[in-house]
Amino acid sequence: MKFGGTSMAGTERIRRVANIVRKQAAGGNEVAVVVSAMAGETDRLVNFCREANPLYDPAEYDVVVASGEQVTSGLLALTLQALGCKARSWLGWQLPVHTMEAHAKARISSIDSDELLASMAAGEIAVIPGFQGLSEDNRVTTLGRGGSDTSAVAVAAAIGADRCDIYTDVDGVYTTDPRIVAKAHKLKAVTYEEMLELASVGAKVLQTRSVGLAMKAGVRVQVLSSFIGDDAVPADELPGTMIVSEEEMEELLERGEMERQLVTGIAHDKNEAKIILTRVPDKPGAVAHIFEPLAAASINVDMIIQNVGRDKGETDVTFTVPQADLARAQALLEDRRGEIGYNRIITDSKIAKISVVGVGMKSHAGVASTMFKALAERGINIQAISTSEIKVSVLIDEDETELAVRVLHTAYGLDAPDNVGDEAA
Ligand code: ADP
Ligand code: ASP
Ligand code: MG
Repeated sequence: MKFGGTSMAGTERIRRVANIVRKQAAGGNEVAVVVSAMAGETDRLVNFCREANPLYDPAEYDVVVASGEQVTSGLLALTLQALGCKARSWLGWQLPVHTMEAHAKARISSIDSDELLASMAAGEIAVIPGFQGLSEDNRVTTLGRGGSDTSAVAVAAAIGADRCDIYTDVDGVYTTDPRIVAKAHKLKAVTYEEMLELASVGAKVLQTRSVGLAMKAGVRVQVLSSFIGDDAVPADELPGTMIVSEEEMEELLERGEMERQLVTGIAHDKNEAKIILTRVPDKPGAVAHIFEPLAAASINVDMIIQNVGRDKGETDVTFTVPQADLARAQALLEDRRGEIGYNRIITDSKIAKISVVGVGMKSHAGVASTMFKALAERGINIQAISTSEIKVSVLIDEDETELAVRVLHTAYGLDAPDNVGDEAA
């Protein structure tokens, strides 16, 4: 069982969580619980680091930001004990959760689970702070923002759990962020592949890595709400969203429990920024000169467009990077202006990426053109386009994000019929 930040925000909420956990244990289950820091706490800790030293050392940043989860794991263990349950906390370094690669975005390589399993078998509820790991050189690491989802899936895989229930502040995965579109509807199930794609293009309900790991390790993941009454049915019967394989999805479709759709979900991401380099020489190697330094600096480039060369053998190159890396990317490119040979560098962080995702588009044409037409009808200008087998993304002005998501939700027939009150725009 994993509980996110909103579910852990304060002792009253933690008591609700403890009750949900207690019920699950009382049903005869051995339970490991992974918890996030209280909502807002990680942001607060990140700000302290920035204030202390704008060019902070990621290893020390990890020491600071990992503390939010330490607090909530101890508090949940205490609250469970107050309810008469046997419970103890296991910090990331105590298990340990071995991680590799960079601080602040470490990857889990393995989890030692022997002691954990022995304690659970002896009737103790295990409470594990999410987000935390231990590096190869014995230092505290963290898994990147939203990383507690990945901790939960990794623990579930390590102990061979029957299921990994991710409790959050919405009662499942919706066709789009229900906080933006009131007509969004909850999906009974979504495939790993689609969830992976949705998460990677901005649906923050699950961290992308957690979905990849669940897919690889075959962990059964369910997303459900922790905001349920004391007399609610147990999680085994709750109507959350199951993340399923394609075969399971086929069965659900055949039994009529799910409706076949071309587009399963729509996501948006406001955290990218656009860079345009004008009048880049249109010759072999020019583009490599642009992207090599960015790759060397671990800056992820997402969408790329190179215009058809103009007369004089020159072209414009447009691409996107995470907003947090924009200043660094710009500085790197300005340093190499002579080598790359561009004329001007233009940046814009007031952009948003809107993506439609669905396995249905593997076998059907017309998904992209529906998107372009729907956006055009509302006068929304498309600045860049990218596609994968099951996704189409467009870059638009950030101010038009909500409108675009709503328009597309309607265009693909995803609006819930019985939900009104979303006509603001
Ligand atoms: P937690 O603190 O529990 O990890 P998050 O804030 O990380 O919770 O994720 C839950 C939020 O994800 C929801 O409150 C919702 O606004 C957002 N969200 C974005 N896209 C979706 C979607 N397709 N379905 C459900 N929630 C979504
Ligand atoms: N507390 C961390 C964050 O806010 C990890 C998580 O909640 O998943 O990013
Ligand atoms: Mg989260």
